[in-house]
Amino acid sequence: MNGEDESKRPCVSVHRRHYLSDHMKTAVDLLLLLAFSTGSLAAPVSSFVAPTNHPLEFIDTSFENASPVWYEFAADGTVLVHLLYDHERGSPNRAAGHIHIKLHAKPGARLNLEFKNLDNVWNGISGSVARELKTLVISEDGRRWKSVPTESLPENRIQLHLEMPGSQLYVARVEPYRLSDLDAFLTALRTNGLVQMTRIGTTVQGRELEVARIGHAGAANRVFLRARAHAWEAGGNWIIEGLVHRLLREDEEARKFRKRYCVYVMPMANKDGVALGRTRFNFQGKDLNRNWDKPADPQLAPENAALEKWLTGMIQADQAPHLALELHNDGGGRLHISRPPVPNIERHLKRMAVLEELLRKHTWFTEGSTTAAFRNSGTLGDGWLERYGIDAAVHEFNCNWIAGLKDYPSAKHWQAYGEKLATVFYDYFGSLPSE
Ligand SMILES: [Zn+2]
Repeated sequence: MNGEDESKRPCVSVHRRHYLSDHMKTAVDLLLLLAFSTGSLAAPVSSFVAPTNHPLEFIDTSFENASPVWYEFAADGTVLVHLLYDHERGSPNRAAGHIHIKLHAKPGARLNLEFKNLDNVWNGISGSVARELKTLVISEDGRRWKSVPTESLPENRIQLHLEMPGSQLYVARVEPYRLSDLDAFLTALRTNGLVQMTRIGTTVQGRELEVARIGHAGAANRVFLRARAHAWEAGGNWIIEGLVHRLLREDEEARKFRKRYCVYVMPMANKDGVALGRTRFNFQGKDLNRNWDKPADPQLAPENAALEKWLTGMIQADQAPHLALELHNDGGGRLHISRPPVPNIERHLKRMAVLEELLRKHTWFTEGSTTAAFRNSGTLGDGWLERYGIDAAVHEFNCNWIAGLKDYPSAKHWQAYGEKLATVFYDYFGSLPSE
């Protein structure tokens, strides 16, 4: 809005259309028909224009973390929601799949939405994300969410059948965790004497990036966790909240945890993408969970350059993390253990086996880890092990189903997982031989 009253501004095109007589319109139609038939104009693609009585009034994407979309109506009334891809620089890779929209429609209306543009390209290979998109979440207030299954149709088509409980309904891929949620979380932490916040740099668009330390800097062991390298994957933020709240509780067990280790978290790497509803890449088209096998480009990936600088400082101060987890969402939920050519790979694999066993013991984790042939070069897990000798791995969380709970994922379940990680880390460091 620019302060001008829109209703008073003359709308020339509408007025002109009004003044065209029916005869003139017929004449225009005839001229167009002639132009198409003689080949001087390309024939328009036939499309169906929605009847004005369609129960969907509007798809609102004006809010924080909303996914950019455009939409149209199919002849049977299905609303075709076209997601927008974000693209990787210098690569065929592209990603769509973040969904966060608000439907405005008649209460009680039955809507059928079909999500388009799920043909992602990942590591140079085409693959539809439709196979992974088995559930979505809905909410009337954007706070209390409910999982709903999607319907898979041939040709990688995904539909969602809904009945509007009121006049507005949010639909999202996973329970959203927005920049404002992070700000509220960090604001509450700032006054806690057990937390130290370090500003480490800024995103492409200038948003501040931080690493928070939970616990005592002098603890014998250090864990690092990062979330939201990929903007749509909100699960990692809920896990970090659960872990941090558990560590800060004033009980005997929390004191025990904090004595054995402290935790460093970079809670949201791709803040620009989260704020503006992107799916994967940063605003210079860089994948923040790639290229960790070489120094980060401070212009193109300032989010990674800032973290690399922080890590280098920690290493120089003899404070390198002993364990690092990079948190993600996908349709599999496995622990990704990469195998770069490092001399101590067997020691690393043994430790990752201990970690996996403890995850199975203390949390609902049942998904297992990647095979012996797995290597995903340049992920934080792979790169930190290769370049810095840090035991690091990517931990995916299934965004459709939690097999260990036989339930849909939710913020509540992911927070509970984070709480249990506190025990996992305690036992993990307890099991390692002292060096
Ligand atoms: Zn990811």
